Amino acid sequence: MTERAYFDWNATAPLRQEAREAMSAALGLTGNASSVHSEGRAARKAIEQARVQVAALVGAEPKNVTFTSGATEANMLALTPALEAGLAKAPRDRLFVSGVEHPSVRSGGRFAAGQVEVLNVDSDGVVDLAALRVALAKAERPLVSVMLANNETGVIQPIAAIAGIVHAANGLLHVDAVQGAGRIDCDMAALGADLLSLSSHKLGGPQGAGALVRRDGIHVTAPLITGGGQERNLRAGTENVAAIAGFGAAAEAANLSRQADAGRMAALRDRFEVALAARTPSAVIFGQNVTRLPNTSLFAVPGLKAETAIISFDLNGIAVSSGAACSSGKVQTSAVLAAMAADADLARGAVRVSLGWTTTEAEIELLLTAWMRVASSLLKGQELKGARAA
Ligand code: PMP
Repeated sequence: MTERAYFDWNATAPLRQEAREAMSAALGLTGNASSVHSEGRAARKAIEQARVQVAALVGAEPKNVTFTSGATEANMLALTPALEAGLAKAPRDRLFVSGVEHPSVRSGGRFAAGQVEVLNVDSDGVVDLAALRVALAKAERPLVSVMLANNETGVIQPIAAIAGIVHAANGLLHVDAVQGAGRIDCDMAALGADLLSLSSHKLGGPQGAGALVRRDGIHVTAPLITGGGQERNLRAGTENVAAIAGFGAAAEAANLSRQADAGRMAALRDRFEVALAARTPSAVIFGQNVTRLPNTSLFAVPGLKAETAIISFDLNGIAVSSGAACSSGKVQTSAVLAAMAADADLARGAVRVSLGWTTTEAEIELLLTAWMRVASSLLKGQELKGARAA
């Protein structure tokens, strides 16, 4: 069997050992976290420990962490007119989202379609700050949602600068930090975020858990799911204790190893990109001129089709994806690359390579060997340099 290497960490990461152990322990608990008996209190304790661990990852107060089924739900919970900030209790009158947001943000959450406006990004996928200032003048109490880092390109947004502009315009800022958390610094105060979404499975926890984190004094007054009083009346339903415990353990582990992992991943990613460019001079790497996550590389080569490239990579033992792999496995033209005004033919061929904390040099070599095979079979007639295309 072909040796396999996984390069799709932005879609989902493997479960960390710490998360597996925490989940296994939590699965052994019987109590409902809302019950007052000692079984219930044990389940409660596991949830509250996870709340502390998740809060620490983003420098927040544990009481401001609301567990959800994932970042999609956290985004839906956050994007509502029903937000209060201290004494400012009037509903938000307009939502502004960047053109490169995840579909769960671009959908506009719980705002009416007519209240949602898309913010322009430049050709590197970075929010245009001058355009942001102009756009915000149209609202009295805006809510702005800009991601920390993009899932397709890895491009990092200037969140602190955006926060300054948003707050000066009487606005609140929501940050989808799913791809940044555990990879780059994600301190809420340093970012200036009022609300922040996290997903467990991108940082080594289980799928189906996430959180919305609020700055002190920010309140969501309209829950998305009503019923019981769980999560301080903000998210009804008996908690998924094992998933939450696994999320907490993963957040703590990610926090501890973040800096070392980032340095290693960046070196490996850069090595891949240098070799890719040397062997395939026509390759274009998106967002290469701006600050990106240490683990992500989105590239395209004229004439390459993402669907066939991904299948060919897979047959050669390599898991990669096209830009967005979030839904049904369908390869669609990337909305992110469209927002960046990338050439449509080139964008159709974009392949995303994303690394993680266990990625090795040997795996990068496997990736490069596979690329030469993929390229030599799919890019007939194009010049490939360096390594022999076996
Ligand atoms: N935001 C971003 C930037 C993402 O990459 C993803 C996952 N693809 C989500 C939100 C949704 O997260 P979840 O899978 O936890 O719903």
